[in-house]
Amino acid sequence: MDSWRGITSLTYSQIKDLQNQRLHSFINTHVYPFSPYYTKLFDEKKINPRHIRTREDLKRIPYISKSDLIGKDNPQKFKDFILQPDKEKISRYWPKSRILARALKSMLLGHHLQEDLAKEFRPVFMTFTTGTTNAPVPFMYSRYDLDNLNVSGARMVGLFDIKGDERIMNLFPFAPHLAFWQVFFGAIEADLFALSTGGGKVMGTEGNLTALLRIKPSAILGVPSYIYHLVRYAQEKGHDLSFLKKIVLGAAKVTSAYKQKLSEMLSAQGAKNVYIFGTYGFTEARTAWAECPAENHLSSGYHLYPDKEIFEIIDPETGEVKDDGADGELVYTSLDSRTSVMLRYRTGDFVKGGITHGPCPYCGRQTLRLSSNITRLSDNKDIQLSKVKGTLVNLSHFAEVLSGIPQINEWQLEIRKHKNDPYEVDEMVVYVTPQPEVNQSALSQLIKDKLTGATEVSPNEIKFIPLDEMVKRLELETANKEKRILDSRPKA
Ligand SMILES: [Zn+2]
Repeated sequence: MDSWRGITSLTYSQIKDLQNQRLHSFINTHVYPFSPYYTKLFDEKKINPRHIRTREDLKRIPYISKSDLIGKDNPQKFKDFILQPDKEKISRYWPKSRILARALKSMLLGHHLQEDLAKEFRPVFMTFTTGTTNAPVPFMYSRYDLDNLNVSGARMVGLFDIKGDERIMNLFPFAPHLAFWQVFFGAIEADLFALSTGGGKVMGTEGNLTALLRIKPSAILGVPSYIYHLVRYAQEKGHDLSFLKKIVLGAAKVTSAYKQKLSEMLSAQGAKNVYIFGTYGFTEARTAWAECPAENHLSSGYHLYPDKEIFEIIDPETGEVKDDGADGELVYTSLDSRTSVMLRYRTGDFVKGGITHGPCPYCGRQTLRLSSNITRLSDNKDIQLSKVKGTLVNLSHFAEVLSGIPQINEWQLEIRKHKNDPYEVDEMVVYVTPQPEVNQSALSQLIKDKLTGATEVSPNEIKFIPLDEMVKRLELETANKEKRILDSRPKA
């Protein structure tokens, strides 16, 4: 039985007590004894696991980040994070009462202790990280972890207020990535009818639209750019979408400008007052968190699971732990997982507005809520923060400007080298598919002015292209993630 109802009525101090208690127990009975990485780390750094009693004590444990999972000369490094119990370790680290309870259960139910342990610890499922620059890192799930994935899925269904007689359609790309499986397992756990199409790459947009019109789901779930693409496709064909009540988006940032644009399009197709939810999740946590119903220009923040994890907020430069409500990098610690377990994992995500507590103003649940204003620090280092024409620019500013211009239907930004010569100057081309009946030269000027104002970099060229060409350029129907910003500069 999931204790979500109980968790969401705890006071802040009860939440902290619960987290402290779980942290101490998890580290002493699972992480320190069974994790090769943490056994070694604690021993080397002389950290006594018994001294980790509260959230504040976490400070004794060093952070880890993606690079610790990859391992320069050891591609199997991720295995060091997988819990590996054996009989000797169990009898040494588990309280006698726990072992006795297990033994009794196996006697009464006729299970073998070995089978019980396999259910808890043996990896049976896997997803990858989707890093564009790093090698993919596998994350394992045992049956125990899958149960947790089910639980978070069902909790989100509750947050979206999707009832048992509603139908949903899962449009996330079919891949060994978290989003698709989170929805797949969550729907089963919540006893919901779900069609998982695999997204545009598997069934094509026409196929997805046909299924959508046949099933008439009240909720659809997918990547923002693909949902937008599908809704617009339906609009062009003049279909009635009045059956849609909820849209759940994942795997990419959702701005309120996007929500409003999508909401207007839906409204024009008969789907009025549609709730649009953002979610946040990452492979390393093997779970996701969601917003609850609020008007589309607002965000309730992501409702956290304080019984399953601890989030800290730190200064990304100095590593200093900040107050919960502060801006900073998110650091994740698991409180209840098996197989791939991490403590103090630096997500590389920067949150503005931190974590709040107290009753949610929209649904009343008393859980911790994480601000939805999150940007990827790691992207900044890789491609988002890039030198264009010699100026260091944050590419997400371009995205904000272009997505915020209502006369633009779709856009793509390409950074290239003049004559494709790696030593030549940078050129920036903005491809635009305007809304119908827009004056192109006026829009062109507007884009130039706004971009130059926000980024100090002016585009060399603005090219107006028809929608079907844009869909191909963005790879909306063929790739898992659209090519919104294309850096096609050849490496020197
Ligand atoms: Zn809420």
